Amino acid sequence: MYAKLSSRIVRFDLFTLYLRQPELLFFASMDLEKTKEQLINVEKEIASCQLCPLYKTRRNIVPGEGNPHAEIMFIGEAPGAREDESGRPFCGPAGKFLDQLLDSIGLQRADVYIANTLKCRPPANRDPLPEEKSACRKYLEEQIAIINPKIVVTLGRHSTETYLPDLGGITKLRAKLYHRANGIFFFPLYHPAAALHNGAMRQTLLDDFAKLPDAIVQVKAQLAKQKKENAK
Ligand code: SF4
Repeated sequence: MYAKLSSRIVRFDLFTLYLRQPELLFFASMDLEKTKEQLINVEKEIASCQLCPLYKTRRNIVPGEGNPHAEIMFIGEAPGAREDESGRPFCGPAGKFLDQLLDSIGLQRADVYIANTLKCRPPANRDPLPEEKSACRKYLEEQIAIINPKIVVTLGRHSTETYLPDLGGITKLRAKLYHRANGIFFFPLYHPAAALHNGAMRQTLLDDFAKLPDAIVQVKAQLAKQKKENAK
């Protein structure tokens, strides 16, 4: 529903823009190309990264993928075996469930950006180590700065701890909006992998996901208010 509505708005806005100021369409597409190029530059940095030992055992880097101008950016934990093989995030069973969750609010992968706290697979899918998360964080920060999403959805304990370390565990924080001092809005959720063999958790994630469109509306209202106050 949200994406159908937002893509209709985007199409309407672009048509209005075309009628009123067709030259601005050119600048909009230039901006998209610039953002894509900046993301490719981050990928190049990751490909040659040796900041933690995981570069020795990875088959492929998994930098992230999606809409360079996404309003919603998802951050998971670390690549698993399938992701390491393909170089794409969330392509196993947890990824399929993430697709269903997106679909439940009318979104597709192409509408959002999906990345992980680590860009290389930890051996045997063990948990990311604190020093690995800290070494890899700079790439995530660069991606967030380039994409400039309205909201960052942290999926699971690891990415939530990375960005909201002082507020409590994921069970307490989930499905609520947090505005950090760095200006970014966060919305933590359980990791889709946690629901794969747990029917109750599956329903909890669907229910929590259903609150995401409203969180975006809240973020946009707060940003508009800030803009108005700054203009005074
Ligand atoms: S996980 Fe991150 S910090 Fe470690 S080698 Fe890969 S890109 Fe570099």
